[in-house]
Parts: sequence; structure tokens; C-alpha cells
Amino acid sequence: MLSNDQLDRWDRENFFHPSTHLAQHARGETPNRIVTGGQGVYIEDRDGNRLLDAFAGLYCVNVGYGRTEITDAIAQQARELAYYHAYVGHGTEASITLSKMILDRAPAGMSKVYFGLGGSDANETNIKLVWYYNNILGRPEKKKIISRWRGYHGSGLMTGSLTGLSSFHNKFDLPLPQVLHTEAPYYLRRPRQNMSEAEFVLHCAAELEALIEREGADTIAAFIGEPVLGTGGIVPPPAGYWDAIQQVLDRHDILLIVDEVVTGFGRLGSMMGSDHYGLRPDIITIAKGLTSAYAPLSGSIIGDRLWKVLEQGTDENGPIGHGWTYSAHPIGAAAGIANLNLVDSLGLVENAGKTGGYLNTQMKAALADHPHVAEVRGEGMLCAVELVKDRDNTSFFDPSEKVAIRIVAEMVKSGVIARAMPQGDIIGFAPPLCLSREEADIVVEKTAAAVKAVLG
Ligand code: PLP
Repeated sequence: MLSNDQLDRWDRENFFHPSTHLAQHARGETPNRIVTGGQGVYIEDRDGNRLLDAFAGLYCVNVGYGRTEITDAIAQQARELAYYHAYVGHGTEASITLSKMILDRAPAGMSKVYFGLGGSDANETNIKLVWYYNNILGRPEKKKIISRWRGYHGSGLMTGSLTGLSSFHNKFDLPLPQVLHTEAPYYLRRPRQNMSEAEFVLHCAAELEALIEREGADTIAAFIGEPVLGTGGIVPPPAGYWDAIQQVLDRHDILLIVDEVVTGFGRLGSMMGSDHYGLRPDIITIAKGLTSAYAPLSGSIIGDRLWKVLEQGTDENGPIGHGWTYSAHPIGAAAGIANLNLVDSLGLVENAGKTGGYLNTQMKAALADHPHVAEVRGEGMLCAVELVKDRDNTSFFDPSEKVAIRIVAEMVKSGVIARAMPQGDIIGFAPPLCLSREEADIVVEKTAAAVKAVLG
């Protein structure tokens, strides 16, 4: 291992970090954590700190760190066959087996899995397939995609457009013109304080309906949404939201893409978020929890009605002109198989529901009455604490006060990693699904202490 200072210098001189203040980092003004190991829900850094990772990396290390069942499977696959492509009908035992395992866990009506590398490229694939579908059906005008403000779907050209967060658009000339955004199902930030939750759901559905009518249903191909808003603030939908939205989509023959990059494979306490909320997807996006990030792998699970048209399209036009070199990479597939087996054998879906429920209950007990906490909310192994200046009139702190950023910095000092979500003063938690009650207690205790240290 190189000495600390030399690594730090190389990092600042050579490494372009995502989602980072580039100038400050290059000048050495931002902290630089170099991570060296991990076990269970803990990571270690080169300075000897052991930190409870209550965000599982980027909500992805679902089985926890250091699982030899997965690392052994990766090593064995690498020795046997590190790579072969999946074009023109090629496959490996790992990629074929994993596609069967995914379909076995998917909701009814799903037909095939296309593999990518990350959530962003999977959503790029999804939009291309939706466009292809409408071209094959002879509806070349039906191409626009509706997403939600505060939705997160990646940071590519199309997926950054679908993402409804301003920092992913500003100065990048996004969103692209084919993308429209509608109301986020974020009851705390409802347009009128006196709206009931049921009225707010009707309002979200009415906003969607009005957008479709303004644009013309014959121009709109698909709606994309996460079962629970993730990076936009960790916001579970109000009761009845998805029913109301699906009714509108059905009426206008608009496809539903359910982005389960965060919720897929157990995080909500159900195998898939689609089942959790009774969704009927045409496409499901998966990534993160598919391999618990032990190897990069994503997927698009394609529903029956889309699949039939894709087959028709290739009968009419020849092989589909879409693919990545690393689609269905065997090392990623081997990691996926070992990971899904581990999720089953350790009962992690059940633990996400039970211990996640415990985490949420304890967090509420510790913080819900704090004068600057507007809401403690969550579902399964997802939890968020939203801070406000004044909770009587839900007025927010000025972003320049960096309240959530200061709180999570304080938490790190006491050994717990949480995430300051990018838009609003929201502390996010998405621990590994193997979190124990004792570990949940530590997270709650350190959060409450940090909130007190920063806000009194
Ligand atoms: N979709 C959702 C719901 C996500 O949370 C993310 C990443 O956080 C993505 C898509 C993009 O995935 P990736 O960062 O692997 O491209």
C-alpha cells in the first residue's frame, strides 16, 4: 500500500470522481476517503476507521460486504471463462441460469431479460425498446416519455433527462425534448397544506391526465417511475397512488416502466417493489441488488406485450440492432446467481421487512418530535429523516446552510455513514438487508446525536 499522502496526491491529480465538486477536490479542500475493506455492514478505510455503512455503498451492497460465497463464484467463473459475448444467440451457463432465476422472481406477465452493466444503461435500453415497439406498431408519433420530478433513472443523455433533479440537467442541455415531467408523489411537499393524502393522490393523477391531454396521448409512449422515490428523497408513495396512476396509463395505452434498481430483490421487504405495490409493469429495470454490486450487472425485464412486438419487429427487419460488448458478462452473471442464492438462504427479504420496520420505528421514536424534523418516513430497509426550518408551516432551510450535509459529516465522526440526499435537507438510510437490530440501534443513536449536535 502506498503511503497515505502519495495516494491522496495521485487521487487529486488523476482521478475524475462522479458527483463531486471537482475544483474543490483538486485543490484538496474536500475529504478523501480511501476504502480498503468491508465486512458485514462495516467498511474500513486506510486511516483505520471502521464505519457502519447505513447506505450500503449507493444502496447496492444488499448482502453486506465480504461474502465469500459471491467472491468464490466470481473467481471460479473467471478461471473457467472470464468472457464470452451474448450476440447472435451466444450465452454461458451463468447468464442463462441467471435469466431463469430473475424471471422466477419477477411479477406475472414478464417474458425475457436483457442484461446491461448499470442502471443508467438499462434505462437507455428500455427507452430504445419502447420507441422500437411503437415504430413496429406503426405509431411513429407515440414516443414521448413521462417521468416524475425527483425521479432518479441515471445520468446518461436520455436517463439524465428522465431524472427529475435539477443538478443532473443544469449546464448539460438536458432534459432532451422527448422527456416530460409530472408531479412527484411527495405528500410533505404537496401544493396545498390542507390537502388530505387521498386528495393529493387525485391531484397527482389529475396532473398526469392533464399533461397527457395537453401533449396528446398519441404522442406519449411510456411512463417511468420508481416504486418508492429514491435519490429524489426516499419517499414512499401515498396509499392508492400507483392504482390511480395505472388507471390513467391504461386509459391512454401508455406503457409502464418500473425502475426497480433500488427496490428490486428485497429492499422493501418484498422480492420486487412491483409486487409490493401491485404494479403491472411492461418493463422492469434492475441493477444494484441483482449482484449486491459485487460485479457490475443490470437488466431490463421485458413484459409479454412488448416482447411479442420485438419478435415481430425482427421478423420484419432482421436482428435487433442493440447490444453492448459486456451484455450478460459471465462474471457478473456468476455474481448474480451467488447473490440471489444468498438473499434466499439468509432470508434477507424477510429481514429487510422486519429489521427495516424496526429501524423505521426506532428512528421515529427518536426523532419524530424534534422541532426541526418534518417527517421520518420509509418502507422496508429504506428510511429518511427530513429536516425543516419550521415544521408548523413546513418552511425549508436555505440550501447554503447545508444542514443535512453537516449532520451526515457529524455522523461519520461517530462511525456511521448516511447520505445527504441531493435535493433538500434529507438524511437517507438504505443499509445492507442483513442489518441486525443491534446495528439498527447504533444507526438511530448516532443519527439522533448528530441532529442534536447540529440543530440542538
Ligand atoms: N435507477 C435508479 C432508481 C437508481 O437509483 C439508479 C442509481 O442510483 C439508477 C437508475 C442508475 O444506475 P447506475 O448508477 O448504475 O447507472
